[in-house]
Amino acid sequence: MARPGGEMIFKDRVSIVTGASQGIGESIALELSREGAEIILVDVQKEKLEEVAQKISKSNGKAAVFCADVSRMDQAMDVAEKVVQDHKKIDHLVNNAGITRDNLLMRMKEEEWDSVLSVNLKGVFNFSKAVIRNMIGNRYGRIVNISSVVGLMGNAGQSNYAASKAGVLGFTKSLAREVAARGITVNAVAPGYIATPMTENLPDSVKNMFVELIPVKRFGTPDEIAHVVKFLLSDDAAYITGQVINVNGGMVMSP
Ligand code: NAP
Repeated sequence: MARPGGEMIFKDRVSIVTGASQGIGESIALELSREGAEIILVDVQKEKLEEVAQKISKSNGKAAVFCADVSRMDQAMDVAEKVVQDHKKIDHLVNNAGITRDNLLMRMKEEEWDSVLSVNLKGVFNFSKAVIRNMIGNRYGRIVNISSVVGLMGNAGQSNYAASKAGVLGFTKSLAREVAARGITVNAVAPGYIATPMTENLPDSVKNMFVELIPVKRFGTPDEIAHVVKFLLSDDAAYITGQVINVNGGMVMSP
């Protein structure tokens, strides 16, 4: 999406991406870096984070690595504080880190519920709260939260995950209303089934069953999510806020 003349659209922008060491988060980080943003990579997987940072520096981009657990408010605050110390500002936050702990409700342990809600929903709260004061001060900011098609349609065996991802949608719309007048947009992207480490261990029979439900008849790619995130972070999307963008091969269609 570089502008005519080759100018990168995120030159001098500072972008935090959580869950950036693999899958969709890695694709988003690489995509934003290609557009000139300095990427703050956040994840619990330190070695993989370093690998992503190396990929970025090899292609002449800039990245900093923060090993942090998004479910911990103190760690989210530490990351935001250090980024503001170093760069004075945070332009973009992509809340992408997420986990699954699938089980039928009858068998679901309290720990499986708590861990999924802590990472997928409280993690979005933690990082959004950590950056919002700086964005308000700058009267500029873009937040994109990664939800899921499962948050819209539900899925047997994923009541914890669906609840967390539906919660992200309510959070997105509420925060969007709070900060819209300060030059900050807050949107959600709801991916369908995407080929990443999160889905690669599904049995082939389950994957085939899902493909049957997807009108385009394939899983999506991480880059297909990253492209939409890039658009929502761009100045071209300044008038889009509080929206949920479905990127799911037609699996669920807007009413
Ligand atoms: P992934 O390959 O499992 O990557 C997620 C990354 O987040 C992993 O590196 C993971 O580390 C990290 N992470 C987990 N807990 C964390 C925490 N507490 N703090 C910081 N980082 C943490 O998953 P993905 O498929 O790329 O998914 C990315 C996002 O898209 C998630 O929010 C997911 O729910 C959502 N999504 C995915 C799909 C799909 O089909 N793949 C569909 C809809 C929505 P560990 O590996 O160590 O846990």
